[in-house]
Amino acid sequence: MPSKKSLTLEQIYNLAKNCLINNHADELNASALANTMMCAERDGSHSHGLFRLPAYVASLKSGKVNGTARPRINSLTNSVIKLDANNGYAPLAHKTGLPELIKITKSTGVGILAIHRVHHMAALWPEVEALAEKNLVGFACTAYMPSVAPAGGFKPLFGTNPISFAWPRPGMTPVVFDMATAAMAMGEVQIAARDGKNVPPGTGLDSNGNDTTNPSDITNGGVLLPFGGYKGSAIAMMVELLAAGLIGENFSFEAKENDNGDGGPPQGGQFIMALSPAIIAGNDWSKHCDIFFNQMTNMKGVRMPGQRRHRNRESKRPRDINSALLEKIDALTSQK
Ligand code: NDP
Repeated sequence: MPSKKSLTLEQIYNLAKNCLINNHADELNASALANTMMCAERDGSHSHGLFRLPAYVASLKSGKVNGTARPRINSLTNSVIKLDANNGYAPLAHKTGLPELIKITKSTGVGILAIHRVHHMAALWPEVEALAEKNLVGFACTAYMPSVAPAGGFKPLFGTNPISFAWPRPGMTPVVFDMATAAMAMGEVQIAARDGKNVPPGTGLDSNGNDTTNPSDITNGGVLLPFGGYKGSAIAMMVELLAAGLIGENFSFEAKENDNGDGGPPQGGQFIMALSPAIIAGNDWSKHCDIFFNQMTNMKGVRMPGQRRHRNRESKRPRDINSALLEKIDALTSQK
């Protein structure tokens, strides 16, 4: 087992924030991004916590990502907000755009937040949970760089293209799912490679197009597969169309062509949609849905998506962080 060190959530936040501030991010950008990483560690989303910090720093250092970004709402209709993230990381764009999205959705019943010129590498649940906390339904997706072959193919075209969905439950934690449309998120494959573990069959192909369970075969010239064969492939395609085609941003293959290869997230778009069940279904929406959720959870062996993360969140104990990663972060923080 790799060696680990325990850090409190406050230590995790400060570690990430200091490292970002020492690497060209200002207070506003660093604190939004550090908070996202801390929340990921708190919830046990390890592949999108501090593990991503070196890549975030690489793109700040190369100048690809703007560490002093000031996201701007540059067009607004009754139900659509277009937000220019100013080439910054997604968390500050969310902080700017989500309050507006909530406002328009509460009045129209449906709202779209179309973010362009953004760099996203985090988990997608924070943006949809923020909507569900305001009693709205949230859906979000973003494309990345090609690492997933369309069903039947063996060359990368889709990103790992995550989708997230949150359903509000007034007085309770929302029901949330957040998942890559690849059979496995690339971060999880990288962690498996680092920790010397195999990945399940169906995760990806090696550089010769053969099935493999060795994560290093996938990260070194191989390709990931979509989850669920052609069905997952169709959903990954939908993400490309919503996050790139609809917004007028890079498809994953264009993101790669335009990227400087620094290892950090490319420029792209993010599609976020909010819906008001109070307006669309009427006053009894929550009671009605509770009946459905009870049917589900009363079934033996069934658990709600998001439940593992929400349980982790309740614990105030320090979180275990990989020691080699902490050394890397220390070096990034102190280097000039
Ligand atoms: P997982 O496969 O681990 O989980 C997907 C979802 O399924 C989660 O909501 C999870 O809830 C739920 N779930 C897991 N097991 C069960 C079960 N037995 N019963 C019911 N629900 C279950 O996620 P992925 O590996 O696909 O993705 C990991 C993260 O990577 C995501 O946060 C995603 O946003 C992120 N990502 C980000 C990218 C980017 O470009 N920004 C690209 C690709 C991925 P729970 O969390 O409670 O276990």
